[in-house]
Amino acid sequence: MKILVLNSGSSSIKFQLFSMEKHEVLCHGLIEKIGEKLGHFKIKFGEKELQKDENIKDHSFGLSILQEVLVEEGILKNFDELGGVGHRVVHGGDFFDRAVLVNDEVVRKIEELSSLAPLHNPVNLLGIKALAKEYPKLKQVAVFDTAFHQTLPKTAYIYALPYEQYTKNHVRRYGFHGTSHSFVAKEAAKKLGKDMDEANLITIHLGNGDSITAIKNGKSIDTSMGLTPLEGLVMGTRCGDIDPAIIFYLSRKLGLNIDELDKMLNKQSGLKGICGDNDMREIEKRVKAKDEMAKLALEIFCYRVKKYIGAYSVAIGKVDAIVFTGGIGENSSTVREMVCEGLEDSLGIELDTEKNLNRNDIISKDSSKIKIFVIPTNEELEIAQQCYKIVS
Ligand code: AMP
Repeated sequence: MKILVLNSGSSSIKFQLFSMEKHEVLCHGLIEKIGEKLGHFKIKFGEKELQKDENIKDHSFGLSILQEVLVEEGILKNFDELGGVGHRVVHGGDFFDRAVLVNDEVVRKIEELSSLAPLHNPVNLLGIKALAKEYPKLKQVAVFDTAFHQTLPKTAYIYALPYEQYTKNHVRRYGFHGTSHSFVAKEAAKKLGKDMDEANLITIHLGNGDSITAIKNGKSIDTSMGLTPLEGLVMGTRCGDIDPAIIFYLSRKLGLNIDELDKMLNKQSGLKGICGDNDMREIEKRVKAKDEMAKLALEIFCYRVKKYIGAYSVAIGKVDAIVFTGGIGENSSTVREMVCEGLEDSLGIELDTEKNLNRNDIISKDSSKIKIFVIPTNEELEIAQQCYKIVS
């Protein structure tokens, strides 16, 4: 069965086509600059790459180009041949605790949840609606970033605000990066030789966006992102945890309005806010060149992760393994070393420096009470697998 995975943004669609039986990626690519004068289409099949520039007036037209190319290349007869299409949808609120087959009611609910993710949910729906119109028989599945965290207990998801902000306005912790945490957790359970519902893990997704999740008996019991993906760890341009009163203070002192503060916290803070760079590779280069601000940014970044590992170890009780994933988690031995430094005696987390530099799958010492894994995330595959489970 062939499953197409789509991640639709406002002016782009990322896609990947899987053959589920063969466990194979048949092709992947990107449709971008949708709605601009000149759009761009790029697709890779193994070694072969194809690109074209043309006006792509909307998502529907972009997907028709994709179908045309797949037919020309002999990969599909048409989209109706697909077993299903899995869509990434950012916010499922507290309504969706798992992936679902899309119907009119599901579309309406995702639209309703747009108030919680105004930049994401409406654009995630563009791909769903475009396909539903052209191929009404096609089975489409919505896979939510928030769904994996719907197992959080109330003690972890209720903020200490007036309770009616939860009951009336749905203000609570939702958590994000759920497909990534879920994927690496399942892989980690396999490595431990345990069933998922026996695995106790701390999964650490470090990329442009960063989040950390406490998993007890295979279920997410706490996670660092909150109502929105702004809370928690220090990120590329997002501040993560701050004293909320900073917002009132800056508003009063500088006369900044809500939109300006929103921009500051989401786009001008984090690593970039501290040292001017949000790309970890650049920061590491600058640290090697003895740049003090880059060093400070890196230290703050790692200290925040370390603090959460401590907190989540207590929340879980007995941790089997911690898992690094995401662009930084998978590739930066420096970050992994700085995060684990000093956790030997307190938590029994012992990093093997050589294995870490070689980027082995397991980078802890044999004597480490808690194992340390590096597991590449694969959100597209996770979406394809969840879609496959539902359509078959
Ligand atoms: P992601 O959002 O998961 O694609 O991750 C993007 C982040 O990963 C950026 O901050 C990159 O600088 C970082 N990254 C990618 N490769 C490396 C590397 N080899 N060393 C350090 N950071 C890296």
